[in-house]
Amino acid sequence: MIFMVEKKSCQRCGKCCKECFNTVVVTYEDYDRFDDETKSYFMLVNPEDGIYEFIDPDSGNMLNECPFLEKIENESIYKCQIYDMRPNSCRNYYCK
Ligand code: SF4
Ligand code: SF4
Repeated sequence: MIFMVEKKSCQRCGKCCKECFNTVVVTYEDYDRFDDETKSYFMLVNPEDGIYEFIDPDSGNMLNECPFLEKIENESIYKCQIYDMRPNSCRNYYCK
């Protein structure tokens, strides 16, 4: 017997993106998908596990949160500025 589990629809609250704080897992496939500007916001800190820190490309300083999360003006919802290129770890996030 197969049980179908309905996936909760995304409310675009941005909580999952805020919870990743300053690091994210990026695969080689993800990185190849990024354009040059997007790549400039990622710095590899753990090659074994594919963990990247978000950085300010101008200063090289680490950022405390994902720079691609954008709040929609006058609303309580967010969008990902690199939605089509976003890492698989973001795509596969399971929202409880
Ligand atoms: S997937 Fe993320 S943005 Fe969407 S409802 Fe869940 S926590 Fe909020
Ligand atoms: S890349 Fe996009 S989906 Fe992933 S944490 Fe940042 S804003 Fe969220």
